[in-house]
Amino acid sequence: MEEGRGVVEKALKVISKYGLCDHCLGRMFAVLSKGTNEERGRCIRLVLSMERGAAASRPERCELCGNVFDSIPELVEGMIRASESLEFETFRVGSKFPDPVLRLEEEIWREFSIKTGESIKREFNRELGKAFSQATGKRVSDDPDVLFIVEPYSKRISTEIKPVYLYGRYRKLKRGIPLTPLPGYEKSVASVVCRKVSRAFGGRCVFKAAGREDVDVRMLGSGRPFIVEVKRPKRRRVPLKELEIRGEVEVEWIGYVTRKEASKILSRRHRKRYRALVSVPEGVTEEELKRLCELLENAVIEQMTPKRVSKRRALRVRRRRVYSASCRPVDEKSFELHLLTDGGLYIKELISGDSGRTRPSVSSLLGKEAKCIELDVLGIAEDEDEGQAT
Ligand SMILES: [Zn+2]
Repeated sequence: MEEGRGVVEKALKVISKYGLCDHCLGRMFAVLSKGTNEERGRCIRLVLSMERGAAASRPERCELCGNVFDSIPELVEGMIRASESLEFETFRVGSKFPDPVLRLEEEIWREFSIKTGESIKREFNRELGKAFSQATGKRVSDDPDVLFIVEPYSKRISTEIKPVYLYGRYRKLKRGIPLTPLPGYEKSVASVVCRKVSRAFGGRCVFKAAGREDVDVRMLGSGRPFIVEVKRPKRRRVPLKELEIRGEVEVEWIGYVTRKEASKILSRRHRKRYRALVSVPEGVTEEELKRLCELLENAVIEQMTPKRVSKRRALRVRRRRVYSASCRPVDEKSFELHLLTDGGLYIKELISGDSGRTRPSVSSLLGKEAKCIELDVLGIAEDEDEGQAT
């Protein structure tokens, strides 16, 4: 057994210079056989002691790791304490070893041309993970609910907890509620949702909606998609019925999603259905309204960033389509306008024309000043509902 002898010879050379524990000895030859490094180290030492006697006995204190593997039971206890109040199924261990230990290991590899070793961090993470798993029944995962960051010598333990993402749709049944907190308003859609969510999960809630509507615009129909991210949640799977929100802001929860699904939901552009109450101070006839809606249907609107949002948004021209339009007179000076448009079209400006920055507009098509008095979002179409937005 040429290879076997090579291991024995090399191992003897290593332990003649460095007093190593079974873990650290076995780890130098980790890729050569199955089983744990500790078992491997013990076997090598057994062979050596049969062949060479006392030279192979285990040192009291390992010169490489300082017997750090003995602290695993104590670290498991520490991890249990650190995660006591957390609900989780999966975990991973990331250990932090001091540089001198890592450097010494590489030095030994270099000195004895060892190419079959495994790093101490890898072994330690695995062994500590195994021990924690046995003690708690939790599973190790590459994408875990909880990451334990362990300093094995100081025994400091901290946790990183994967956020929870929830997908829902909200309806705003009353005007005068901003999407996110705004001075002068006692509540917002975000604050209503997050109050409920952060209490239920015991974490910090971040609210993100797919687009937004103005404070004075209602959000009706099936509602606007949004995501909440719960940071450092104590619970991970709150039953959705415990999160029920009813009142001026209503929420329909769709379910738990991954981070990737969440960002897809937020970036998807949806077609939208609107109802606007439009005022034309000069007055407007049914004939004019009929003509207006014919012209709006399938019109491509060129919209320069509106004046009222130009502080927040980059100045550029957007092209958005109006797919359908219908007009219903209310009285001589006002009418109701129903629209289906691409997402991202500013409807108030589509009506007023925004001093020529939106073209064409209801004002320009009528040849009369028109103004949006009330606006409701009636629906946000899922892609599959209304076909692909172009
Ligand atoms: Zn050791």
